[in-house]
Amino acid sequence: MKNIVLFGPPGAGKGTQAQILKDEFNLVHISTGDVFRKNIKDQTPLGAMAKSYMDQGHLVPDEVTINMLAAEVEARPDAQGFIFDGFPRTEAQAQALEALMADKKTQINAMVALEVADELLVERLLERGKASGRADDANETVVRERIAEYYRKTDVLKRFYQAQDKYHGVDGVGAIDQITQRLVQVLNTL
Ligand code: ADP
Repeated sequence: MKNIVLFGPPGAGKGTQAQILKDEFNLVHISTGDVFRKNIKDQTPLGAMAKSYMDQGHLVPDEVTINMLAAEVEARPDAQGFIFDGFPRTEAQAQALEALMADKKTQINAMVALEVADELLVERLLERGKASGRADDANETVVRERIAEYYRKTDVLKRFYQAQDKYHGVDGVGAIDQITQRLVQVLNTL
């Protein structure tokens, strides 16, 4: 079983690349952002709660996010492996993921991080906001707050996986297929 954390700041291209990699490596793709957005669209209580944080560019509380992620994993007992996109985003989430994987007698094989400079992130997110209708991409203050939240709570996870020799940084600037090739190279070594 190959379990990958696809990592990087908002706008790094995780969703785009995860869509391609999941087919290439036969992995189940779980995007916490997508699951939250689906709940918002379906007007569930979870969606209403998540929206109040997402609209401000803040992270949804750990307990809620962790329970939701665990349910998504449990729903796929047939999976050959997972590609986690947007999770973990805090140290508590990383610990919870370790426990969940251990429970399944498996582990995270690698964190693969897309590296992109902050100003390019802002540009990409605002551009995506014009087309996607994602409210959190349309407002520059919210976009910048998400990046700030990333540096406050999420960036530190690099060290968590570095300490286990599982961290791989990949240049996230260039054409989509170029970046895919860089990621495939790393995943092939696992
Ligand atoms: P992006 O990577 O572009 O910020 P996502 O779609 O991954 O977009 O996430 C959108 C929002 O959903 C985040 O800004 C945050 O509010 C919430 N969210 C997603 N994943 C998590 C997580 N693991 N923990 C807490 N909140 C999350």
